Amino acid sequence: MRLPAFALTLIAAATLVGIPGCGEGGAEPTTGPETGARADQASGPSRPPSERPVAKVAVIGIDGATFSVIEPLIAAGRLPNIAALMERGAAMVLRSSEESDSSPVLWNTIVTGTGMATHGIIGFTRRTDTEVDGEVLSSYGIFTSQDRKVPALWNMVTSRGAFVGVLGIWNTWPAESVAGYMVTDRFAHTLWEDTSERRALAQTTNAGVTWPAELAGLVSAQVRPPEAVRREDLEQLGAFTDAEWDVIVHSGEDGDVQVGNGLRALRFGYQAQESVGGASVTLLDELEQPDLFITFLELPDRVGHHFWHAYRPDEVRGGAEQVEAGWRERWGEVLPRAYEVTDRWVGEIVSRLDPSTTILLVSDHGMQSSGSPGGRLDQLSRMAHSGKHSKDGILIAAGPAIVSGARTEATLLDVAPTVLAAMGLPGSRQFEGRILHELLDKGHLRRFPPGPAQSEAELERRAVEHTEGLDDAYMEQLRAMGYTGAAGEDVWDNRADAPDAPDPAGEPRDG
Ligand SMILES: [Zn+2]
Repeated sequence: MRLPAFALTLIAAATLVGIPGCGEGGAEPTTGPETGARADQASGPSRPPSERPVAKVAVIGIDGATFSVIEPLIAAGRLPNIAALMERGAAMVLRSSEESDSSPVLWNTIVTGTGMATHGIIGFTRRTDTEVDGEVLSSYGIFTSQDRKVPALWNMVTSRGAFVGVLGIWNTWPAESVAGYMVTDRFAHTLWEDTSERRALAQTTNAGVTWPAELAGLVSAQVRPPEAVRREDLEQLGAFTDAEWDVIVHSGEDGDVQVGNGLRALRFGYQAQESVGGASVTLLDELEQPDLFITFLELPDRVGHHFWHAYRPDEVRGGAEQVEAGWRERWGEVLPRAYEVTDRWVGEIVSRLDPSTTILLVSDHGMQSSGSPGGRLDQLSRMAHSGKHSKDGILIAAGPAIVSGARTEATLLDVAPTVLAAMGLPGSRQFEGRILHELLDKGHLRRFPPGPAQSEAELERRAVEHTEGLDDAYMEQLRAMGYTGAAGEDVWDNRADAPDAPDPAGEPRDG
């Protein structure tokens, strides 16, 4: 494989962290002197060279993916890549957490194998109280990787002598020094707000957006700024009038944070997913596939929240006649088409993975009707959330570690233990879930024996510079999505058993 000249700096950096160059076959287990040599070159946390064979695993996270949408679309032949994985592998509900419905909490549970009391990411924003002249002032910021109290899969893979690549997962900024690479959540999300100063800040300082820092040079061309969204791209989802397109491109420019703007959510959700999808494909093309590859696609969640009533008007409280005429005709296809776009990314990623890779498609929760009829068709910048999270997420698994057609009861807590077992790496004593043994092929486990669970070393801690401006941009977008209030306080209350969804014309928060 040829590497473009601009990648040379990166490759130098990659050699330092132990990613071999391209072109090595991945089908055979890596073991013995080669693995030792790779580990010896690694910088970052010191770790013993791996003596064991390591099997490749890839986790593709799809925020809010739900079988109630996937199954009918597969029946209609519209999600060929997800269908292919289900056909050759196993598919089952992944039960979400009872303790929260907040995506940062749930994704941190997935990657640490622990509940939020253990991992410490308890919502969208963290409150800091400072006392000034006897008065307590509260300020809010986004949880960072430094707030996570326990190691995540990437730390565990590193300490076990294997290699990892991570993209887009919530609260991964600032990037941790892993054996391999990280592209944090801020890669796409710091660019949510359209000011050139902020963007320049993100690009010139790097500011912990990737590990190693030089990786930014390889993936920065994949960033899709929200204001650069192309009409022909978004028209894959639906047809817009010129006035609607104007709302998509220009709303919020005056600094007004519009809560519940479904059209604007399309623009940010689409561009963020394109950014992370593009970076995923670039890294799989340019660098050898790491032992564990994790990436994140977010469009189904954004679209599900805003367009559920148009897709399934019959699920609205009081019946389909509560939904204003025209919603289904004009916007009923937005959600299915968002899944089609996401399915294409799944195909792009899977086609680049070595055939020896075991692939897991996981969602942090499912999606269902909130009961709300969505709002007025002539006020698309002010929509209620007509979709809300459900407890039934998805787990689709395929590849050499998986028993085809297997099924079991699985929860978010079981993902991390199962990933390490499928890789043939020791589990962790911190895990609060179980290895999903019913899914794992016994022959594979004999070839890649995980060995006994081990304790984790303390996480490296460093001072985090909260770059002013970058935090602001992220916070404003969380507010626009209805996750936080005006001061940044966490107001998310989207429990499956939550009381009635806000009325489109009523409450200020449309979460
Ligand atoms: Zn959501």
